[in-house]
Amino acid sequence: MTGRKVLMTFPVTETSHTLAEYRARGGYSAVSRVLNAMSPEDVLREVMASGLQGRGGAAFQVGKKWAAMKDDGQPHYLVANADEGEPGTFKDRWILENAPHLLLESMLIASFALRVRNCFVYIRGEFDVPYQRIQGAVEEAYAAGLFGENIAGSGFSCDIVIFRGAGAYVCGEASSLLSSLEGTRGYPRNRPPRLTVKGLYQRPTVINNVETLSNVAWIVTNGGAAYKALGTPASPGTRLLSVSGHINKPGVYEIELGYSWSKFLHEDCGGVPGGRALKAVIPGGISSQVLTGADAKVLTAADVESLALDHAVLSKAGSSLGSGGMIVIAEGTCMVHLLAVMLRFYHHESCGQCTPCREGMGWLHRIIDRIIAGKGRPEDIGRMIAIAKANDGTTICGLGDAAGYATVAMMDRFRHEFDYYIANGRSMNGGRLECL
Ligand code: SF4
Repeated sequence: MTGRKVLMTFPVTETSHTLAEYRARGGYSAVSRVLNAMSPEDVLREVMASGLQGRGGAAFQVGKKWAAMKDDGQPHYLVANADEGEPGTFKDRWILENAPHLLLESMLIASFALRVRNCFVYIRGEFDVPYQRIQGAVEEAYAAGLFGENIAGSGFSCDIVIFRGAGAYVCGEASSLLSSLEGTRGYPRNRPPRLTVKGLYQRPTVINNVETLSNVAWIVTNGGAAYKALGTPASPGTRLLSVSGHINKPGVYEIELGYSWSKFLHEDCGGVPGGRALKAVIPGGISSQVLTGADAKVLTAADVESLALDHAVLSKAGSSLGSGGMIVIAEGTCMVHLLAVMLRFYHHESCGQCTPCREGMGWLHRIIDRIIAGKGRPEDIGRMIAIAKANDGTTICGLGDAAGYATVAMMDRFRHEFDYYIANGRSMNGGRLECL
């Protein structure tokens, strides 16, 4: 048991994504209640009271973000960020494939609260089944009169568009997502101004992650206080985690925040295969900093396992729950090879606007490839750390910062593996990555 549930409250079947099944589970009763008995201010009050934080990575207070968007009578927008591309993360995909109407109902409620007439779902280009499911759900919802003009005679009108991205990781960043949605190149934008002031088509826009928005129907049905009572005071509610790597039962789980990490890894996820020891965990997608294992400087494997799964606890431990993509790493895995995979990814995905990211990711990738080829130099480690740190606070979006932090954490916490590789021209772990 991973605690109480908000999102994964039903068995997944061949038809759990359909309107008929969603309605049979009581779906769309929350929006009905909202349209008949609540004002936009009432909904906002419940979301504020829930303490719901964003589930895409930054964990920003959702109520505060909503309150920051002012209705000046002109068009303004709501966008669901379904561009789930952080390596190791596949939990929004679970909602899109199995409960697309939960997202749509929550978006209707959010649009009502924000007085939004047009909302969007920006979905990752590579997602095929999730796209079919959410598009199919939109068609069912329109046919049932749940979107469009004067919904259920309430006077509230709302339209929704599903927009497929073209396959850039950086478009998961909110401002580049909007650039792409506008039909231009998916470049991140400098801020300020905030997107709640100047977002899509230069108009105020709220962007929330799929999982974040999907909590809204439950919050409206059960009340913000009931949601706040879940989890911990600093991290209310539940979270979806996608678990992969060296783990017996990979998949998507819903945990109540504050849940025991040890119990989660060993009981719910079945532990590390083959009885191997836990070496490290990357808790929130590769852009979160690795939490270390048995031979590390900062935390031991036992320390990691003793932590609670909670935003505040992980932040104190030097990492974050990030995008909820947990990667489990067993003893015997080569961290030099793992970092090489990460740097190849960042180099490929840098959009090229900022020099420290565009050039730095290329340099880091080329240096680590040279180390792997057995041609490392003693000065490489210091040079790589300096290049990674040069991104700190000097780039337009968080890709450069996050890639830099993740690189430094890996090199700092497993320094002896990098030293060994450079001195001996080979991995002290046999170069194994296996299923990672
Ligand atoms: Fe592009 Fe990297 Fe700059 Fe982000 S940090 S805007 S990905 S170059």
